[in-house]
Amino acid sequence: MTVENLLEKLVSFPVLGGESNLSIIHWIKEYIESHNISTTLVPNEEGTKASLHCRIGPAIDGGVILSGHTDVVPVEGQEWTTDPFKLTDIGDGKLYGRGSCDMKGFIANCLAMLPEMIKAELTKPIYFAFSYDEEVGCLAAPELVEHIKSSYTEKPKYAIIGEPSLLEPIVGQKGIYVLNIKVNGSAGHSSRIKQEVSAIHEGARLILWLENKMNTLIEAGHIDERFHPPHTSLHIGKFNGGIAHNVIADKASFSLDVRTIPMDNPHDIINEFRTHCRSREAELHSIFPEFKIEVIEDHPSVTHLDTNENEDVVKLIKTISGNDQLSTVAYAAEAGQFAEGGFQSVICGPGSIAQAHRANEFIEKEQLQNGLVVLRNLISEMSLSGFN
Ligand SMILES: [Zn+2]
Repeated sequence: MTVENLLEKLVSFPVLGGESNLSIIHWIKEYIESHNISTTLVPNEEGTKASLHCRIGPAIDGGVILSGHTDVVPVEGQEWTTDPFKLTDIGDGKLYGRGSCDMKGFIANCLAMLPEMIKAELTKPIYFAFSYDEEVGCLAAPELVEHIKSSYTEKPKYAIIGEPSLLEPIVGQKGIYVLNIKVNGSAGHSSRIKQEVSAIHEGARLILWLENKMNTLIEAGHIDERFHPPHTSLHIGKFNGGIAHNVIADKASFSLDVRTIPMDNPHDIINEFRTHCRSREAELHSIFPEFKIEVIEDHPSVTHLDTNENEDVVKLIKTISGNDQLSTVAYAAEAGQFAEGGFQSVICGPGSIAQAHRANEFIEKEQLQNGLVVLRNLISEMSLSGFN
């Protein structure tokens, strides 16, 4: 199968983040096993989803993991001019379809190069690591990383995460932490604002506290110019509460999106926020003993990527991509999780993030072909006896 045939097949599985990915992962498994490479599935607890990993080449330390996710974002509410789950070539040099760039293009690259990887005399192994539920919070990667570490006697050294980067090497990614905050106040007539505890008023105070926290970090010099914006951001994108202008709201809730630069720890920020919530509760208990602020994780925090320019993986990715320019991205990805697992990690994949998550997502055919060139270069690096 050509890389375009493979991409067409992968796009035809409409597996969204949060849904079962067994259809696509079993197809990938069968494809890989038809080349006499054995694979390992890492199922979730219910057995409804699974990640996959495999090794091509010798059981020797120093190999490289190629990582991709099999899920995509929804198409609902988007105005597609083609069928999003049918890879479409309209003759403009682009292939349209959901996931064509984010990130089934890279998986198609990996699968297309499998025969060459097998034929090459690899002196260092190449691994595939394909996950699920990346688009709903990078949920599967931590377990996949642990499974890889415990499944092989040898130790892989590098991880390349093939998120769309136009095949440019990406060495930094912000961390992300999403939380839901619920405020429980007391209801009453609006005139009793001093005798009750309005959940909306208290929620608004908490939001200002969070905004002040962001500004305090900036003023304290927590700036990392590699990122845009160069600071940690705390943002509330959703706020619910209240029933009428003349009723004090007893319930309010909002969602908080924290995106951290590497020097800031999201858990430190949230712990400080929790402490503030406890003291605010104590202050208002004399008015309403049940006043309560709950701070609930939407999903576990996704750690940042901060790969040092001196790490060997940077030399490797510069060599195989033919690109010396290092950059960072603002989106969340599994790269930080692979780095946390002990693998030197970078992001580098075909297609542009500008096309991801929107209607008429596409990948340029040239990018797909260039992705093959990068992997071909990787094969030759991993076949040299010198590189480690
Ligand atoms: Zn992605």
